[in-house]
Amino acid sequence: MQHTKTDSSSHTVSSALHNAVLCLNKNSNTPRLDAEILLATLLGKPRSYLHTWPQNQLTPAQHFAFCELIERRREGEPVAYLTGQQEFWSLIYRVTPDTLIPRPETEHLVELALRQIPKDSCYQIADLGTGPGTIALALAHERPRCHVMAVEYCGQALQVAMENARRLGITNVTFRQSDWFSNLAQDRFDMITANPPYICSNDPYLAQKELHYEPATALVSGPTGFEAIEAIIVGAQSHLKSEACLLLEHGYDQGPATTDLLRRHGYHDVAGYKDYAGHDRVAMGRYNGI
Ligand code: GLN
Repeated sequence: MQHTKTDSSSHTVSSALHNAVLCLNKNSNTPRLDAEILLATLLGKPRSYLHTWPQNQLTPAQHFAFCELIERRREGEPVAYLTGQQEFWSLIYRVTPDTLIPRPETEHLVELALRQIPKDSCYQIADLGTGPGTIALALAHERPRCHVMAVEYCGQALQVAMENARRLGITNVTFRQSDWFSNLAQDRFDMITANPPYICSNDPYLAQKELHYEPATALVSGPTGFEAIEAIIVGAQSHLKSEACLLLEHGYDQGPATTDLLRRHGYHDVAGYKDYAGHDRVAMGRYNGI
């Protein structure tokens, strides 16, 4: 997108958006939406402002900053990293390149988990690989009497999760830096949730430019795609209370293999669930360890 700091021509909200859409057309599936989110965030206004005041002038500095954002978006940088935030479960999460960007399909896991947690229960829950606190904070918010331990290996991501809890005013959550269960001592939980990395290292899907901006450790599991899933299924056996429940997100083509793994490792009441796009997405099982 053409821009210079000394650009003296005037730009309205409407013309800036129009040019941005032309610029993003080939590189984004949602050029108009991306441009509106970026401009609204830059101006510190809701998106409705752009529709109400299309003829408002942008200052040269605003226009310059907008062009820079559009250029980065055109290169493939995700909108959530450009704005520093992503909505999930109607909560606004801060995200950074150290954290995976929460995905809508993960809301399905939250919904399934909530169905297993009676409203007034005081469950102890662990969310493994929490990233910006995605599942942990949504569950803690919905079930204020429960206690959620948000577990994350990456220290920087854990800092973001802690900041999100502070900003959202969620206090029934604690944070633990741990490589899956390595730092969880003898703790046992009424429920364990995880959205682990589950893409296999040679999956052509990884060629998508946007994914290159996200932490590979949160996306890529290893040569089979099941390394993290299996480690969690095995490790959870010594961290689930009797009859407690494990819920895992997995890839669209990993449903039968994940439910098989659960059964082979002694879980019962095993079930698989589809997301709203109709893809296998979540596997659940109970374990009767102690
Ligand atoms: N669902 C994500 C994607 O398709 C992957 C998330 C993950 O590996 N846990 O990009």
